[in-house]
Parts: sequence; structure tokens; C-alpha cells
Amino acid sequence: MTNPLPGTGPVLGIWAHPDDEVYLSGGLMAAARAAGRRVVCVTATRGEHGTDDPEHWPPERLAAVREVELTASLAALGVTEHHQLGLPDGGCARQPFDAVVARLAAIVAEVRPEVVLTFGPDGFTGHPDHRMVSAWAEAARNRAAPAARLLHPRLTAAFADTWQHVYDRLQLFDSADLPWRAAPDRVAVELRLDDALADRKLVALRAQATQTAELLTLLGAETMRAWACSVESFVDAAPAPAWDFADGC
Ligand SMILES: [Zn+2]
Repeated sequence: MTNPLPGTGPVLGIWAHPDDEVYLSGGLMAAARAAGRRVVCVTATRGEHGTDDPEHWPPERLAAVREVELTASLAALGVTEHHQLGLPDGGCARQPFDAVVARLAAIVAEVRPEVVLTFGPDGFTGHPDHRMVSAWAEAARNRAAPAARLLHPRLTAAFADTWQHVYDRLQLFDSADLPWRAAPDRVAVELRLDDALADRKLVALRAQATQTAELLTLLGAETMRAWACSVESFVDAAPAPAWDFADGC
């Protein structure tokens, strides 16, 4: 790794589905744990609909398997603290905003993170659950840890150009208008994973086989490692507004 991690204190990741955390921040989490830092991960849903084959993978079965996969994946990164909110996969936008933010704010208050990682308002891929989690996480940060640095994953334009053929093939993004490429001056954190960290991230990705086995077969392990386990980049979100400091809740 050629550049420092953001901050020195606890890191809290707030994501929508099992596997979001490893794709977008697996290297950062593993590096922070290796540096002796507390890392806590929150997953809003159990990802029970994350399959093209619901007959073979009915929601309860898939949710149970993904829970085991996620635990193993986080363990490979050295992360043992995980909160599962158990909200419906694909149904985050229908949840009562204040009630979810209150749950998240209680976790934020306990962890007292220096750094909070979550999707940008665009949801990174545009997924409605991701967009909702972004809004919840920002509100919870503003309420319970307004001084915490809020970072959103965003690919550098150079990285996106290098891997455009993979993105074209995977069709990850819901819309062509998403701001998934960051200009170099917007990138606040760019972690380049060394070989050991890349290997750990690949192990963590493999651990979530219901989501990654097909992709690993499609791309091959070497390409998967070079694409998904080489760089993680983030932009800074706006600081917490002053009125949230004063609202005292
Ligand atoms: Zn997701």
C-alpha cells in the first residue's frame, strides 16, 4: 500500500447488502484492522433476493447462506464486529426513515467512528437500497458523530477507463448518468492494495460465493484480483451541517 489510511481511529462501514462492504472497502477494512484499529460493519439487508434463480435459492435459504458467507468474508479481513439490520432486500426505501436512522445512530454513538464509509447519494451503482442507505448513514453520522469523516466510494477516472471493458460486460450501473468516475482532484483517499492485501480481499470475495463464484468463473481469478483487489478510492462527503450539531438528538 503506497498511501496512508484515513485517520487513526475506529472505522464504521454502513452498506446495503452482503458483499457491498468487501467490493467497496475490503482492502481498507483489512488494512485498518492490521493497523490495530476497530472496524465495525453494518449491513442493512440480508440480501435474500440476490439471485437469478429464486427457485433454487428461496429467500430464507439464501439469506441464511449469505449470513454465513458474510461472517467468513469479514473474518478473512480481520473484521469481527458486524450488525445486521435485517431490513427487506429491495425494500429499503419503504422503511420509516426516522426509525432506521435512530437504529443506526445508536450504533454510531457506540462505535464513535473517526471514519464512516457508505455509498454516495447516487448509491454508487444507482441501486435504490444503496441510495437509501446513503441517506440513512449520513443522517446517523450527522446526529451521533458529526465530526466523523464521511467517505463515499468513487472510482478514479483512470481506473474506470482501464476497466471499462469489465464494466461494459457486467452492466453494474443502473444509469449512464451516475457520477462513478471521480476527477483526480476529487479523490480524497486512494488505497493501492499490496499483494498480501489483494490476496486477502480475494479470499473475502470468494467467501461470498453465492455472489462471486459466477463472476470469478467469468473473469478468471487473475482478472478478478487485478480489477476488484487493486485500488479502493473514495471522495469526501459534505461535512455535517451546523444545525445538526445543535439539534441535540
Ligand atoms: Zn448492494
